[in-house]
Amino acid sequence: MATSSLPELPGLPGLQTRNIYCIGRNYDAHARELNNPVPDRPVLFIKPLASLSFDGVILLPPFISEPHYETELVVAIGKKGKNIKEEEALNHVAGYGLGIDVTARDIQHELKKASHPWFLAKGLDTFAQVSSFIAADAVDDPQNIIFTMNLNGKRKQTGNTSKMVFSVKEQIAWLSRFVTLQPGDLLFTGTPEGVGSLKGGDILQAEMTPGEVTLEVRVKNII
Ligand code: ZN
Repeated sequence: MATSSLPELPGLPGLQTRNIYCIGRNYDAHARELNNPVPDRPVLFIKPLASLSFDGVILLPPFISEPHYETELVVAIGKKGKNIKEEEALNHVAGYGLGIDVTARDIQHELKKASHPWFLAKGLDTFAQVSSFIAADAVDDPQNIIFTMNLNGKRKQTGNTSKMVFSVKEQIAWLSRFVTLQPGDLLFTGTPEGVGSLKGGDILQAEMTPGEVTLEVRVKNII
């Protein structure tokens, strides 16, 4: 792929999106609501670049019966690193934003039963909705961020990053044991409890404090 075709991260000029890493089950109340154990090490997966959208439209194919929203803090990496130490991890962060990790829960359930990868539940076009970012130096403590998501005007999720099972710096240190993190890599840091179903016509509005980051997303059925 030509470098020029990679989308630039809104709010972080000069940084182009590379990989989209995600952590699952990173808030214990969410792990419990789906009857999953709280992990003793981060559960990692990726979304392909094809799933990335800054356009605010989720496209739902007709073969998905239970599409879910997961509202998450998204970390943008700004500095390359491998085997990053926890105490240095935040120096590798360029900015913070919000994301919706769209998940076909029905497909994920089947994949989990078969011990197959989650790709088809997580990786479809538009399934990684991402907001604009604020620079990392505008956030004093990434473990003290509050974010909310209203679905059609009704509060569905409230996240407080102080409740993460693995902190942002722990996630960066762990992930960088296995892969070299690159400027422009994104990290979806997990969803708090309150996940639920989406349908065509829904409007999702997410907000984050501090930073005044907002994300508004519409849901459209693909006929
Ligand atoms: Zn997620």
